[in-house]
Amino acid sequence: MKIIVTGGAGFIGSALVRHLIEETTHTVLNLDKLTYAASLASLACVAHNPRYSFVHGSICDSALLERVVATFDPDGFINLAAETHVDRSIDGPVAFIDTNINGTFRLLQAAQAHVERLPTDRRARFRFLHVSTDEVYGSLGETGKFHEATPYDPRSPYSASKAASDHLVSAWGHTYGLPILITNCSNNYGPYQFPEKLIPLCIIKALAGEALPVYGRGENIRDWLYVDDHVRALTTVFERGTPGETYNIGGDAERRNIDVVHRICAVLDTLRPRDSGKHYADLITFVADRPGHDARYAIDASKIRAELGWSPEQSFDAGIEATVKWYLENEDWWEDILAQNYKGERLGLK
Ligand code: NAD
Repeated sequence: MKIIVTGGAGFIGSALVRHLIEETTHTVLNLDKLTYAASLASLACVAHNPRYSFVHGSICDSALLERVVATFDPDGFINLAAETHVDRSIDGPVAFIDTNINGTFRLLQAAQAHVERLPTDRRARFRFLHVSTDEVYGSLGETGKFHEATPYDPRSPYSASKAASDHLVSAWGHTYGLPILITNCSNNYGPYQFPEKLIPLCIIKALAGEALPVYGRGENIRDWLYVDDHVRALTTVFERGTPGETYNIGGDAERRNIDVVHRICAVLDTLRPRDSGKHYADLITFVADRPGHDARYAIDASKIRAELGWSPEQSFDAGIEATVKWYLENEDWWEDILAQNYKGERLGLK
């Protein structure tokens, strides 16, 4: 199938593009605005593959979308283009409203116009997969998990913008019959993640001997999933999911933030020991909590497991070890990003 992947130069998008090109027979057009969070270096291994092409542009640009769709003639879309960092959404929500809400709307319009022109057999196969987050469900107490029928209760500008986009996608399915699919996934980690996110931030700061900032007392709980497991889930849903359905994706790996940071420190102590007697965990520093910080996320992924036979392959401990090793072996990748984005300034929590 010919698939337009949006946001394919980001963390999950690039993992998806690498997977689609290297492990499947699909043809991919990657449409990406190349914001600060993008890296074409993450796609170096597929850049010259004849089944891969790249267009630099925004999902908010309807004229561009029309041209790209007319030329590429896709059998489906997988939408990962988004502004994704919660702290940035608190400081500057405009880009989140523009891309996550208006951009998704423009993409839906382009997809719908295209589907209406397709012959019946291709229309039957067409899919629009929208990639979303568990953060739309809000915050959990000590027990319970998010499932597909959990009411939306977004609490940050980021999650509110993603919730709005999910509703638009769902509406295009109900109202116009667009064959949509929505996935809501827990926190991802793995290679090629932008250094501002918790796990790479800790690895990079630890290697520099800088303080490891942890919000509050580090008690907030997230359900972690290795990015390659997410990518397999997305491919499965795109290929075999039932149109109109939502699938929750999670790794059954709930961890307190402080435990995640300790695990990273323990792996680093083994792989790159500090000077005599010092441990990376000595660098942990508690900082003022994020406003409105959600306490706990946990995903019930039994639907995708039962209906589509997906399950995560990577354990949390092995995934963290693989991730730390990757950042140790790929300093050029993240040093370039730091140089472009932070111009030698210290990498903050943002
Ligand atoms: P990311 O921030 O690493 O990458 C986002 C990509 O989208 C970048 O390449 C950026 O250039 C591109 N982009 C931004 N605005 C655009 C626009 N207007 N037009 C075209 N491209 C644009 O994000 P990620 O972590 O890879 O997340 C991808 C998707 O998965 C997002 O929709 C996010 O909400 C969702 N998600 C992420 C996680 C996670 O833990 N990272 C978990 C669940 C869901």
